[in-house]
Amino acid sequence: MNAKKDYYKIKAENLIKNFAGRNIDGYFVENSEAAGEKVLELIEANTTVSWGGSKTLQQIEIFDKLKSGSYRLLDRAAAKDSEEKKEIYHQALSTDYYLMSSNAVTQSGKLVNVDGNGNRLAALIYGPKNVIIVAGMNKVTVDEESAVKRVRNQAAPANAIRLDQKTPCVKTGYCHSCKVEDTICCQTVITRYSRSTGRIKVILVAEELGF
Ligand code: SF4
Repeated sequence: MNAKKDYYKIKAENLIKNFAGRNIDGYFVENSEAAGEKVLELIEANTTVSWGGSKTLQQIEIFDKLKSGSYRLLDRAAAKDSEEKKEIYHQALSTDYYLMSSNAVTQSGKLVNVDGNGNRLAALIYGPKNVIIVAGMNKVTVDEESAVKRVRNQAAPANAIRLDQKTPCVKTGYCHSCKVEDTICCQTVITRYSRSTGRIKVILVAEELGF
């Protein structure tokens, strides 16, 4: 491995210990391909699976792999209209597995996420039997404050551009604490402990993934 990978490995090993203290399972893999394999290893066959919007999940190309497996997928992108899409959002809260990334992860093991609709955060908090999070090591921050700053000034503007939202950050690349209809920063969730043992599993990837 090169120095950057070594650095990510050392950081991840420490982080995984900190996850354990929060009742969160942690794993470390060296690249996107291994991340996809780990996700599939964690999901049992013949189960229901859904996911939240995520550039990281796209980058590890997990969707095609899931589609060729023996799972019942709840894919809102396949909905024929907005009503069906809403129904899938609700059904996703009762799945066996829910996949997502995290907008940031503190080095002490807290998960920091900001959302517009809140469907992804609702699933993270309660509902799906298992939540599998895939996060590039670029998302690890020193503390909660820097995590929120990272999300609001880096991840959220990039996601707002990806989602073609009309928010001030799409014009400047940083947060203006907007209160407009298109804001994607309606809720902030800090996950500091998982009450349910083994429910939240975080796969840390030694690559820069997502925003
Ligand atoms: S400007 Fe609005 S949408 Fe953009 S990061 Fe700030 S609060 Fe979020």
